Amino acid sequence: MVVIDGIRDRDGLLEKLGINAYNVDTKAHIWIIDHDICLQCEKQQCINCCPAACYEPQPDGRVIFSYEGCVECGTCRIVCDEFDNIGWTYPRGGFGIQYRYG
Ligand code: SF4
Repeated sequence: MVVIDGIRDRDGLLEKLGINAYNVDTKAHIWIIDHDICLQCEKQQCINCCPAACYEPQPDGRVIFSYEGCVECGTCRIVCDEFDNIGWTYPRGGFGIQYRYG
């Protein structure tokens, strides 16, 4: 993997994820419960561990989350173990990612 800005090759990642199809719901199935709690979290593992780069660090220390590209792996709710600050459900039936190659 090519690493850019210490994180990852975002364009390459988006190219690979673009093979899949998404039926995006208007209702978010994952959300950050309290954005101010992210200011207390030194690790912010959601940013490094999400395989779809749905979490982006902000200059003020908070984190922005975009559910639209989620691949429903469940990693973020596991790695946010110190503050348990991620609300997580599966998308409603018929919504979410549709894998093209398994
Ligand atoms: Fe990222 Fe997986 Fe969490 Fe979706 S479930 S936001 S792909 S870590």
